[in-house]
Amino acid sequence: MKELFCDRDYTRVGFCQSILEQEGIKTLVRNQDLVGMMTEVPIPAFFPALCVLNDEDYDRALELLRAHLQPDENPSDADWHCPKCEEDVPATFDSCWACQTPKPEAGTVR
Ligand SMILES: [Zn+2]
Repeated sequence: MKELFCDRDYTRVGFCQSILEQEGIKTLVRNQDLVGMMTEVPIPAFFPALCVLNDEDYDRALELLRAHLQPDENPSDADWHCPKCEEDVPATFDSCWACQTPKPEAGTVR
């Protein structure tokens, strides 16, 4: 058994588990029972951890997770690049701070 992924947010761990189970990879969530006992100060050692039961599934599982978790860094959450004046603009800005060009649609030139 190999540990794949550990996160204090149990829903994320559960989400990853469902992805892998769908692909037929046997998984186990460690510390599942401890989540309810979590104190206000989280202890990383007690975070829920997603493990693969078969070590040979590990690489494939990692790849699957990487593919699924990537959308989290979707372009609308990232800093963007003004197409007009080429300034880097923080993600929280809807238009360029320098020249007021509106933020381009996600997926267009960065
Ligand atoms: Zn600009």
